[in-house]
Amino acid sequence: MLEKYKQKRNFTSTPEPSGDVKLATERMQAQKPDAGLFFCVQKHLASHLHYDFRLEYKGVLLSWAVPKGPSLDPKTKRLAMHVEDHPIEYGTFEGVIPSGYGAGIVMLWDQGSWRPESDDVDAALKKGDLKFTLDGFKLKGSWVLVRTGGRWGGGDGRSWLLIKHKDDWAGELDITEFAPKSVKSEGDFEDILAADKPDIWESHRPAKGGEAGEMLAKIIDRAAALKAGKTAPVPKAKASKEPATGSRTRSIKATRNTKKTTLPAGAKKKTTRAPSRSQSARRT
Ligand code: MN
Repeated sequence: MLEKYKQKRNFTSTPEPSGDVKLATERMQAQKPDAGLFFCVQKHLASHLHYDFRLEYKGVLLSWAVPKGPSLDPKTKRLAMHVEDHPIEYGTFEGVIPSGYGAGIVMLWDQGSWRPESDDVDAALKKGDLKFTLDGFKLKGSWVLVRTGGRWGGGDGRSWLLIKHKDDWAGELDITEFAPKSVKSEGDFEDILAADKPDIWESHRPAKGGEAGEMLAKIIDRAAALKAGKTAPVPKAKASKEPATGSRTRSIKATRNTKKTTLPAGAKKKTTRAPSRSQSARRT
């Protein structure tokens, strides 16, 4: 269990959870798919920006790296590379990975519960056609993960597509742009970095060059400014970063504040249905 996850990491130098096999076994035994299992999406700025989509199953988090992030538009199929299972306790991790595998910043972008839409999840995974329902802060409704025949990934079986099914939660709203921030800290990458050590990458940045490198350079500058701002007044200009989405972001926050950010205890709590994305998009 979790061998590949452990092989790739040195737990004396990474803040990531090491993977408690006892906890995984307990979660597996307590698992009741009908009542909802944990899911999360972690936005990960490493050598490339991507979104790690994770579904709890049998005590671990099945994981796919989605370069462009989930799309609410059923016409937009997003490549999802199947990667190694992650420990269940990774699901609420947010922070800075200073070096080694995955070095960069991890943000908890969405979390909630998922339910398989078929009784036999093993068979669905084997077939490469897993249909499920999400109940997160940002992602809701029916989705499917479909394994592709190698058109994208050279046929090694790692390439899947993440696709939204047509329902009340589908729409053309770009959810990654509309709701870019953390559901845990409500911050952006620079806030997460500022809470840690912005100077961590002064000389050895994990993402060099390219889009990710450029993004990281800006984030490091902004994080350093945020940190400095704790002793001096912060210029208000920073707040104008997302002028068009300000009111929408508040409505997302209002939604998220009604839920807890801890791992579900196994039993699914009743949650109120938030306004559909298409409705909130029309309203503003
Ligand atoms: Mn990742």
